[in-house]
Amino acid sequence: MKVLVVGNGGREHALAWKLLQSNTVETVFCVPGNGGTAILENCQNLSLTATDFYGIKEAVQTHEIGLVVIGPEVPLAMGMADYLHQEKIPVFGPSQSGAQLEASKSWAKAFMQDVGIPTARSQSFTDEEIPQALAYVEEQGAPIVVKADGLAAGKGVTVAATVEEAKAAIAESFGGKFGLSGECIVIEECLIGQEASVLAITDGLTVRPLLPAQDHKAVGEGDTGPNTGGMGVYAPAPLVTPEMMERVQREVLEPAIASLRDRNIDYRGVLYAGLMISPEGDIKVLEFNCRFGDPETQAILPLLETPLDEVLLACVNQTLAELPPLRWKNGASACVVMAAGGYPGDYKTGDVITGLEQAEAIGAVTFHAGTELQNGQVLTKGGRVLGVTAIGTDFDDAFAKAYQGVEQIHFDGSYYRRDIGHRVRSPIA
Ligand code: ATP
Repeated sequence: MKVLVVGNGGREHALAWKLLQSNTVETVFCVPGNGGTAILENCQNLSLTATDFYGIKEAVQTHEIGLVVIGPEVPLAMGMADYLHQEKIPVFGPSQSGAQLEASKSWAKAFMQDVGIPTARSQSFTDEEIPQALAYVEEQGAPIVVKADGLAAGKGVTVAATVEEAKAAIAESFGGKFGLSGECIVIEECLIGQEASVLAITDGLTVRPLLPAQDHKAVGEGDTGPNTGGMGVYAPAPLVTPEMMERVQREVLEPAIASLRDRNIDYRGVLYAGLMISPEGDIKVLEFNCRFGDPETQAILPLLETPLDEVLLACVNQTLAELPPLRWKNGASACVVMAAGGYPGDYKTGDVITGLEQAEAIGAVTFHAGTELQNGQVLTKGGRVLGVTAIGTDFDDAFAKAYQGVEQIHFDGSYYRRDIGHRVRSPIA
């Protein structure tokens, strides 16, 4: 079978890499892909954009593609899955109405409240309700969280330490900082604890969790500095015990899928629950995403033994209940992100990356997030450049290999956190 993966990040490289390990996948096409998918054997980049519905449909027909996997949230929120379904193309990814779980935080909060899914107390306001929003912040006090309703590439959330900061965030959002995404806001109780990601696959009838993962959002060591798309991740996260996973299944995933079905929402894809786990072990959903997490996918997929195409097709064909339990490798997986200096602020691109083969030679897999291939050279092309990933017998082993991989790789101004996995591994000498 030939598969087309939409997107150009580390997630899509990891999806293509894992799909190609299956005996039944002969070629993966990436739209548009990156430097990593350009050099991956049996993988081919197509120069179309990730939101070119018509171009993707044409490519599916030209290349006789049997499955489309939509990586990022933007094409899902634009209705790409609905469009491809109408063309009778098998597609992994929820419908536009299902993607609202990620694309509208007020919709997601109302959904969670309706279904009884544990989440932070909150209220939503439109830009015609500014006095009410300000009064709500006054009444609730700080710390408090202000979120732009729509997609804002991870930048739409302010965890405000003071009421003034919260008011400034409200003014910014309604002032147009996030465009249409900020015309409505959610003001939310600030939760304390550790975050974890549980990604689950679903065919809309059955839902099965993947291994839990823990990301590191802050750019700086010791979890300091501004938030990023994710600076490193590991799986399976021991914080999420098997008992907690059962609770997530029972209290979050199953009720969510049942309610989506009751609303006649076609949801065949990933349901990703971003969780806050309190020191007492309480679980609350911070957010839902409607697609594979990035970088979580880069750490989770290397541990998956079941062929990925079988898993995705079972979702598309609504036969997930018949699929045997997912098989996982023993051990642990670690992913360390190498970023361009300056990220998440301004950074430069176009620098030559060297040492990729050496990193592979010592057993690390390098997923490309922001790279491109030009004249045989791999160049930087984004803030997060690479996710250097390794699996090992335990976290010490996996992180030692991942960091050895990182040390082989060079590009001008590269930056990475040296403390990824600090909660689960011994310090590296
Ligand atoms: P965007 O919409 O801009 O793409 P996002 O979807 O990543 O952002 P969230 O996941 O809701 O937004 O929030 C981003 C981060 O903000 C979370 O990972 C968490 O660190 C913090 N955060 C969000 N909500 C809360 C909360 N209620 N309490 C404490 N921290 C929170």
